[in-house]
Amino acid sequence: MIGDSPQRVRRRAARRRRFVGQALAVLVAGVLLVSGAFASAVAVATGSAVPSAAGALMNSVGAPYPAGGSIPEVRPTVAARGGHLTAQRVAVAGELLARQSAAIRANDRRAYLATVDPRAGSYAATAADLFDNLQRMRVRQVRFGTPVVDSRGLTPARRAALGPSAWVASVELSFRLASGDTQPWRTTLRMAFVDRDGVGYVAGDREGQGTDSSLPLWMTERIEVVHGEHSMVAGSGHLDQLRRFARTADLAVRRVSEVWGSSWDQYIVVLVPPSQAQMERLIGVGSHTQTAVAAVTTSVGRPDPALASHIVVNPHTFDRIGSLGRLVVLTHEATHVAAHATVSGMPVWLSEGFADYVGFHRSGLPAEVIAHEFLSDVRRRGPPDALPGGTEFDPRARALDEAYESAWTACRYIAQRWDRAKLLRFYVAMDGARTKVDQERVYRRVLGTSSERFVQGWRAYVRERSDD
Ligand SMILES: [Zn+2]
Repeated sequence: MIGDSPQRVRRRAARRRRFVGQALAVLVAGVLLVSGAFASAVAVATGSAVPSAAGALMNSVGAPYPAGGSIPEVRPTVAARGGHLTAQRVAVAGELLARQSAAIRANDRRAYLATVDPRAGSYAATAADLFDNLQRMRVRQVRFGTPVVDSRGLTPARRAALGPSAWVASVELSFRLASGDTQPWRTTLRMAFVDRDGVGYVAGDREGQGTDSSLPLWMTERIEVVHGEHSMVAGSGHLDQLRRFARTADLAVRRVSEVWGSSWDQYIVVLVPPSQAQMERLIGVGSHTQTAVAAVTTSVGRPDPALASHIVVNPHTFDRIGSLGRLVVLTHEATHVAAHATVSGMPVWLSEGFADYVGFHRSGLPAEVIAHEFLSDVRRRGPPDALPGGTEFDPRARALDEAYESAWTACRYIAQRWDRAKLLRFYVAMDGARTKVDQERVYRRVLGTSSERFVQGWRAYVRERSDD
């Protein structure tokens, strides 16, 4: 089904091809739109700008700490006098979170760590890494939502470690990046709070979430971050490698703008997890499903699950595809970001073929290389009867290369038979078409043809190309 595979996922897998006498794996990855994979388990704030309880407390408890001086004094939190236990807990947690968000905004590491339970063990180091990661990412508008007491509570082992005062709340953390990227980031933390002699502390931020959870990269790794002119690349690789990726990402953005124009953010976020397994957890898909995939564009960790927003690479594959392969992949993915690829009813061949069209433009590669497998098939068996559909784009599909190449030829056909402006208009109009009837109208209105005649023309076009 188009754009609606089991996880409402559209993915792009890789293909290997050979040209100019050397093995070069050109891998182009696709748009991955995971619905709700990272969604909050509890409804907290309804928007990033909605003032939270923590935010409301900011003025009273979130005042800046003295800069560069001694370790901030630990302030006793709300005393346990009267009122409902839950309300007290939420107030205590809100105060701690207000101090944390103020510390993040002020880049005050000591103030942040002063909120951490002195008996929390390894969590202190985890919290320090998280703080450093957020600073490196240059986050802004950091907000914690209202803590929601989590009835699932603590595991027996954690209860034993933290003691009887410990309790757990789900808390939504949202922030934005200082530059370029315009969509907020949003994650639900399962935070543990404790009381030590009348003083409240944070004792954990991922209770019950094991190493197999879909936690964001900035929570699970100590990341390096490179800020490019049009990109942020964050990951666990060597800084030199991330700098190279950032240069490629900047170039990919410029390549997209050459075709798509400048009416988009002209900025991409690229995350580089340490392993394929980590990448699969990060985007919320099964193990060993992304072996052929170099990168995906995903909405995981963002508020709109239907909107492609940032790119996650598969380090296992991305490293091996050479600089041209990486440029093609990032340009393809950046096209999805620019075009706000969604799980709309747009035919997958158009969404992926267009991203490949942009990805390969100015690559200097001839059609015979870009669509090698597909054109070989056409030479042997003649052109297929139809454009590739949704199932043919499954990353585990046997003839995945052919599906992508076929889609690329269809978009190139439009650009050559009509022109590039028509291809753009067709893409945009098709994105808004909700039904088959709407789509048929788009064929007629933009290309002056029917879908049936279009497929006939495309078949003749690829037959000719296969003779080249
Ligand atoms: Zn794609």
